[in-house]
Amino acid sequence: AGAGERDHLLRQRALKVVPGGMTGHLNAAQLPAGYPQYFARGQGCRVWDVDGREYIDFMCSWGPNLLGHAHPQVDEAARRQQALGDCLNGPTERFVELAERFVARTAHADWALFQKNGTDATTICLMVARAATGKRKVLVATKAYHGADPWCTPVPVGITAEDRAHLIYYTYNDTASLDAAVAKAGDDLAAIVCAAFKHDLGVDQELPTAAFARHARQLCDKAGAALIVDEVRAGMRVHAGGSWETVGVRPDLCAWSKSIANGYALAAVTGVDSLRDAATRIYATGSFWSGGVAMAASLATLDVADAQDVVGHVQAMGQRLRDGIAAQAASHGMPVRQTGPAALPLILFEDDPAFEKGSAFTVEALRRGVYLHPRHNMFLSLAHTEADIDQALEATDAAFAAVSRRYGSR
Ligand code: PMP
Repeated sequence: AGAGERDHLLRQRALKVVPGGMTGHLNAAQLPAGYPQYFARGQGCRVWDVDGREYIDFMCSWGPNLLGHAHPQVDEAARRQQALGDCLNGPTERFVELAERFVARTAHADWALFQKNGTDATTICLMVARAATGKRKVLVATKAYHGADPWCTPVPVGITAEDRAHLIYYTYNDTASLDAAVAKAGDDLAAIVCAAFKHDLGVDQELPTAAFARHARQLCDKAGAALIVDEVRAGMRVHAGGSWETVGVRPDLCAWSKSIANGYALAAVTGVDSLRDAATRIYATGSFWSGGVAMAASLATLDVADAQDVVGHVQAMGQRLRDGIAAQAASHGMPVRQTGPAALPLILFEDDPAFEKGSAFTVEALRRGVYLHPRHNMFLSLAHTEADIDQALEATDAAFAAVSRRYGSR
C-alpha cells in the first residue's frame, strides 16, 4: 500500500519548492514505502495523516510528545502565555521559574540555560566545557548522534574536516577505548560527551554500565575536564532527575530538549557551579530562545511529569509492548532483539542486515493503524494506555503473521 493521495500531491508540490522535498531524519523517503510524510493532527497517543488515516503513535514526534499530543494542561498553559506575549524584548517570568524548576528537579544541576533545539544545547555544552578548561579536545562515541551542526552531523556534507579537528572517538561502554582517547587528548582534554544511553541508529541499544559511567567521571575529574551527558533523546523517560542517576554518576553538564515542553520548541543546558563562570562568559543566544510560550508549556509539562510518575508509566507501557512483541516473535518463529529502556523501544529482527524483515513488519503494522519505526528507537508517552498497547499488539500479531509467511519462520 502506498501513502495516500493527498500526501503524494503534497510531496510533489514540495519537491518543486523545498530542496529534496524534505530534510533530515523526518524525511519519509528514509522509511519504507507506504509511510506518510504529512500529518494533519495528533491527539493523545494517536496521529492522523493528511489522508485521514489514524495511527497509534510509537514515535511521539521522535520524542517531544512525552504526555501525548495536544495535552490539555500543557496547551492551556501555552495559550495563557500566548495571550500575554511570547517573543518580547526579553524573557518573561517563566524563564526564571523554569530555571528554578530545572535546578530543583535535576540531580546535578546548579543552573540552567535555555535554547530551542537539542543541537543548540549539545553545542553549548561543548562551548562551556572549552571556555572553562581552555582546552580543545572533546571525546565523542563513534556513531553517536548529538545533532546537526558541523561538529556532529552524521552526514558530513557541506562541512570541513577542521570542524571536527578536535574530536576524538571512543566506543560507548568500553572503558579501554575511553582510556586510549584520553591519552590521545594529552593535556588538551575539555570534555567527554556521552549519550544518556547508546541509541545509535539501526544497532542494538545499550544502557550505560556503572563501570563505564564511573570511569568517564573519574577521567574527567583527573583531567579537570567536563563530563557531558546528552539527555536530548532519553530525558524525562528514563529517570526524572537525569538518566545517569540510574548508574549513580552525576555529569557536569546535560543537554535537554525534545520532551521537556511536550512538543513546544525548547532546549536546555543544565550545569554545575564550577562551570557557572564559563557559562556566563560564552556568547550563545537566539531571537526566539527566551520565548515565554514554550517555557510555560515546559512548566506545565514538568508539573504533570512530577505529579503522575511519567517515567514509571512510559516504562510500564513500553514493557507491556515489549513482552507482547517477544511472545509474538516466539510464536511466529521470527526472533527479534529488543534492547535499551522499555520506554524507548527498539525492535530489530534477527538475520536482517538490510532491515528488510523489520521494514516489512512495520509496513504491515502501519497498514493496520500502528506507527512503528524499523530502525530507530521509538517512544512511549503518558497517553498510551494498556488498551492502546493491546490494540497495537493485535496489529503487530497480524504483521508478524504476514512477514513470517513472506520470509519463513524458524
Ligand atoms: N542529541 C540527541 C541524543 C538527539 O537524539 C537529538 C535529536 N534527535 C539531538 C541531540 C539533536 O536535537 P535537535 O534535533 O532538536 O537539534
